[in-house]
Formats: sequence, C-alpha cells, structure tokens
Amino acid sequence: MIQPETPRAANFIRQMVAEDVKNGRFGGHVVTRFPPEPNGYLHIGHAKAICVDFGIAQEFGGRCHLRFDDTNPTKESTEYVESIMDTVRWLGFDWGPHLYYASDYFEQLYRWAVELIKAGKAYVDDLTPEQTREYRGTLTEPGRESPYRNRPVEESLDLFARMRTGEFEEGTRTLRAKIDMASGNLNLRDPVMYRIRKAAHHRTGDAWCIYPIYDWAHGQSDSIEGVTHSICTLEYEDHRPLYDWYLDQLGVHHSQQIEFARLNLSHTGMSERKLLELVEGGLVSGWDDPRMPTLAGLRRRGYTPESIRDFAERIGVAKADNLVDIALLEHCIREDLNRRAPRVMAVLRPLKLVIENYPTGQGEEVEAVNNPEDPAMGTRRVPFARELWIEQDDFRETPPPKYFRLSPGVEVRLRYAYIIKCTGVVKDPQTGEVTEVRCAYDPASRGGDARGRKVKGTIHWVSAAHAVEAEVRLYDHLFAKPKPDEEEEDWKAALNPTSLQVLTGCKLEPSLAGAAPASRHQFERQGYFCVDSVVSAPARLVFNRTVGLRDTWAKIEKTATPSG
Ligand code: ATP
Ligand code: MG
Repeated sequence: MIQPETPRAANFIRQMVAEDVKNGRFGGHVVTRFPPEPNGYLHIGHAKAICVDFGIAQEFGGRCHLRFDDTNPTKESTEYVESIMDTVRWLGFDWGPHLYYASDYFEQLYRWAVELIKAGKAYVDDLTPEQTREYRGTLTEPGRESPYRNRPVEESLDLFARMRTGEFEEGTRTLRAKIDMASGNLNLRDPVMYRIRKAAHHRTGDAWCIYPIYDWAHGQSDSIEGVTHSICTLEYEDHRPLYDWYLDQLGVHHSQQIEFARLNLSHTGMSERKLLELVEGGLVSGWDDPRMPTLAGLRRRGYTPESIRDFAERIGVAKADNLVDIALLEHCIREDLNRRAPRVMAVLRPLKLVIENYPTGQGEEVEAVNNPEDPAMGTRRVPFARELWIEQDDFRETPPPKYFRLSPGVEVRLRYAYIIKCTGVVKDPQTGEVTEVRCAYDPASRGGDARGRKVKGTIHWVSAAHAVEAEVRLYDHLFAKPKPDEEEEDWKAALNPTSLQVLTGCKLEPSLAGAAPASRHQFERQGYFCVDSVVSAPARLVFNRTVGLRDTWAKIEKTATPSG
C-alpha cells in the first residue's frame, strides 16, 4: 500500500466513486483498470492515468487490473508489453493476479458479434475503407446508409464466418454495428466492429485474421472483468454512448465510465508519433533518453517513482484541457531528493588550486555531513591535501560586483575544511588563461572556523590526488518552447539545441568511486545527479543531471496554479 506524499485532495472522480460506494452501487465494490495498448513506451501522461486508476482502487479498498488492449497486431509487440509491466511496477503499483489481455476475449467478442448479427444489430459490409469514410458524412452532414446495410441476417452470418476463416482479402469487408447513420455523434454512424487483418498477433499468433476495433473490444473487456469504474481521458467522452449501446444490446454488466483531461506538460510533447520520430530520426538516443517524457527516460534521468506519484497527485484531475508547467515536475523530484539523496562534492569544470603553505605529500581527512535534512544519514570522511580541484566559476581574476567567491587577495571557506586566501595565479603563457590558482590556508580555521573574520563565500572542492573522474551529462528541456505541440508544421525546429551538454574530466570526491548504477546524489551547489544505468561502468562513470538546485516552481506558483 502506497502512502500518498501529498494529502489527497477532493476531486470529482473521488467524489463520484465515493458516492457509488456509499449508495451500494456495484455492491459497494470498486474495480478499476489501466488499459494501455502495447504499442509504445509509457510516458508521464500515462503515469497520471496509472496513479488515478490504481490510486482510486487503493483508496476504496478495491482492485485495479492491468489490461492490455491489444487489438491491433501490426502495431503491438511483446517488447512493449514487458516494458509497460516493468514501468507500472517501478511506479509502485501491483495488479496482483489481475493481468488481462483483450486478446484473451477474442472468442467471446466474436460470439457476441454473432449475437448482434442475429439480432439484426450488426451486418457485414462490402464497402471499401475509402467508401466507408465517404459514406460516413461529416459533423454537419449526415452519413449515408451502405447498400449492404439491410442484407439478410443469414447472409451476414455466413460472410462473417467466412471472414474469420480467411476467405476474403484485407479491406474487402467489415462487420459494422447497425445504429444510426444520421446520428450527430459520428461514433454512432454504424461503427466498424471487425476488420480483416492478415497479420500475426503477438499473443494469438495466426489464430485470427479478423481483429476487433478498439471501441468494440474496450467496453466489453471492462464488462467481462467486472470493472466498476472505467476511468479514461476526455477524448473517449464521445465514445461513451457507443460503449453503452453495445452493452445495452448485449444486456451485460455496465461499468461507469468517467473521463478526465489528459496531462499536457510544457517544454515537451506526448504525441506518440512525434516521440517515435525523435527516436527513429536519432534526435534522441532512444525511448529511454533522459530528455524524453517517457517513464523509461525519466527513470534513467534519476526521477523517483515517489516524485512522479507526488506530481500526479498535485496536478489532480480536471474536466478541461490544460498545460502543466514542467517546473512542477522538477519541483517534485527536487523535494524528494532533498530529503533522500546523500550530498557529495563534485567539480564539473575543474581548475587546479594549490595551497602553497600546505606541506607537500601530506594529507588529512575532514568530516562532511551526508545530508543536513536527515541527521540519520550520518557523516563521511573526505580526503584533503595540498592540491585541489575547484570549479572554474568559483574563481575570477577580476571579480564582478557582489562576487563572493575566490579572487586575488580574497578569502573563502573551503566547504568542511579551511579558510584560504588567494595569493596569485599561474597562466598559460600562450593563451593567458588561468591554469592554476595559488593560495594560502589558515591552519587554525579547520572545520571552516573564521574566528571572527568575515568570510562571505564557501566553495566546494575535491582533492586532486584522490579525485574520481567521471563524465557528467547536463540536460535541459527537450523543447525550447513551452508548447511545441502547437508547432504543427515544423515542430522539430522547436527542439532545444542545448538540451544535452556533455562534460568530461569531471572530478568527484572518492566516496563516489563505486557508486551504483541509478544511485542518486546531490552534488553540492550543482544539483541532483544519478549514475546512468545504461552506459556507466566502474572504469567510466557517467552521471546524469536529474535537475538543478534552483527551484523555478515556487516563483511560478505565485502567478498560476496547476489544475485541480
Ligand atoms: P498515447 O497515444 O499517448 O499512447 P493513448 O490514448 O493511445 O495515448 P494508451 O496508450 O492506450 O492511450 O494508454 C492507456 C491509458 O492512458 C488510456 O486510458 C489513456 O486515456 C491514458 N493516457 C494516455 N495519455 C495520457 C495523458 N497524456 N494524460 C493522462 N492519461 C493518458
Ligand atoms: Mg498508446
């Protein structure tokens, strides 16, 4: 059982379900389902749906099924099934024994289709896909009835059976529901229930060459499983009358469908087609590229399942489409890691610092706090010596105003160690670039005790002799614009050219030598980083920056609030 990170707020889904439970509808039971089509990797939008589906079931002591709506053999695969299961588990949810596949219901769906034909509620149509589209009409014009609509029941039964045995070519016939070609709702204009597809299915193999359309499979699958609350996104609102029609004709269990607005996140995109294009075009390294809004990408980036569940809870559910600022997601991971990630010192753009009055060949260890937010995380010992690495940014030969870091003649504190004063620099005779900063330390200031002096800056460092080398990958938003989805024409032009910056030769404190893949750390003053779980190796450590330390959400929150 997962404890919510943020207290649960009232929302319309909770209220509807609570009302049903109170009134004893469905015997007071709550059964939900998460119904992905295994045709891609799950993204952060799916995480919202997963948290709602599983969350509602948990809250009301019910259960949530994982059901693959695998009705389209040409787009689906076992690879996707496995990655989806792995991701749902990673998010912290458990479907127990309730793993289902719409493909397991193919036989039942077929029998129901036959029932509808017999009842004069469905017919085999010989129109081509193009004709079917043409006959369908538009939002302003009614559709036209197919000339095959009123063919005898016996004939439809015979043709449907022969469709199943593979007698006809793809696109030559369909099974359609006989509803109303003049309906204002296009979904009710004799929707197709089955089409011929001579393709092997990842689970049923060659058993079928007709496949149910999603809309014919979905509601009946919910019904078979006894789903009480079928929670889905708004675009299915117009399909609800069709689902109801099917269930009414069959006279079987009805679940209550409840729609909510899908998640749109700024500076990214959730369109499967565009994500696929990024992957196939090599614009990202794969579905799990840490810049991708996929859960595989966020996971590799260093996001925790807790932070994503927290995010899902905070955005809540709404009935109207909205855009959530990605800064809120970043805020959630920052809050989580602030409490949990051990802090270390790492120098990303190294500059040599030599302490002239520190004895050569000597060294010592200083004590460093692992996480001031959590004393139980204890302390560690960090080696200190005459030669250190500091951040290039932490030294300026000619400091700008209000620069409190190191510059000639100025004193700073070395985190957990001593106070030093810059005495000079060594420059590259050719370029004039500062290659080394020289300084003197105050041996009596151990632990950073300034003894009454005013020392404004504190900088981090790593002992040169003990440093562990690593590659560090800094990420920024995938898209430079907040709403790349609006750029229909040339959406790729909205990609952020500096979404990935690779730094090599970074210097880390030695405690990170054996850092485990996927382990998360705060690099003091820099942000949160995790060991890459794909390319990092003991001989070549690679870190991903999950998120920087500066929180932009707090600022945004004052001017706008997320949906709720
Ligand atoms: P996509 O095309 O992005 O994959 P989809 O509509 O095809 O979305 P599925 O892949 O079948 O949906 O996903 C299963 C469930 O996840 C559906 O119930 C769907 O409503 C939900 N879902 C998909 N995208 C989002 C989103 N952005 N926000 C919230 N829920 C979503
Ligand atoms: Mg999908």
